[in-house]
Amino acid sequence: MDGCVCCGEKETSGHTLWNCSIATEVWKESGIKFPSRVSQQEEFIDLIWLMKKYAREVDWELFATTAWGIWKNRNLVKHKGRCKLTKTIARDAANNIKEFCQNNNHNDTNHRTRRQSRPTWFPPKRGWFKININGAMFKKEGQSGVIVVNRNEKGKLMGAMCKKIPFPLGALESEAIAAEEGIALARDLGLGEVVIEGDASIVMSALVNRDQSLSSIKKLVESSRTKLKAFKKWETNHVRRHCNIVAQLLARC
Ligand SMILES: [Zn+2]
Repeated sequence: MDGCVCCGEKETSGHTLWNCSIATEVWKESGIKFPSRVSQQEEFIDLIWLMKKYAREVDWELFATTAWGIWKNRNLVKHKGRCKLTKTIARDAANNIKEFCQNNNHNDTNHRTRRQSRPTWFPPKRGWFKININGAMFKKEGQSGVIVVNRNEKGKLMGAMCKKIPFPLGALESEAIAAEEGIALARDLGLGEVVIEGDASIVMSALVNRDQSLSSIKKLVESSRTKLKAFKKWETNHVRRHCNIVAQLLARC
């Protein structure tokens, strides 16, 4: 494995996004308050779970975009030999949220403090698995993305994927693709009982009742429903957008 492009240490997701001195500086600049129990982590996903457990209030959108900014800077150093100022990385992260909210029709960008509450992710029933799905649009870049995070009843990560789609899709279409990808991932992992959780109520109900699917997502829903036949049992669950933060974390990778 290659070493960290910034300091040469062993590169893990925990090092690059959290422990490396550049990351540490960026997190300081971000103004996010971290609980004292959050220390060095080999994997960044473990840090998220500690945050969920111990942090009182977290601005998860800022958290996710800041992590993404650090990763993007790592790629800039690796491929172009340039490194942004830590202040700039933190500032760009805050600006990215504004852009993301505007592109995805959030109308509460001026009232974000109200939404800085602990996200509520509930584990699935015993023996079940939860698949959090998320679609995202990046209008400026003319791209879309899908994120899938798969966890068991204890919150343990069973699988995850992040895929960039090189053309712009609508919010509904990207969510429908995310659902299809999530279902395919769970099927390939051989899971028996799954809850598909997403923040697009239209997609969630179309999976249950295909008559409810709009024409633009009909094909995707049909394909998802075919894949769902592989499971012993399945359910869908619609959650508010910020509850689906685990899937949103990688939405901009
Ligand atoms: Zn480093």
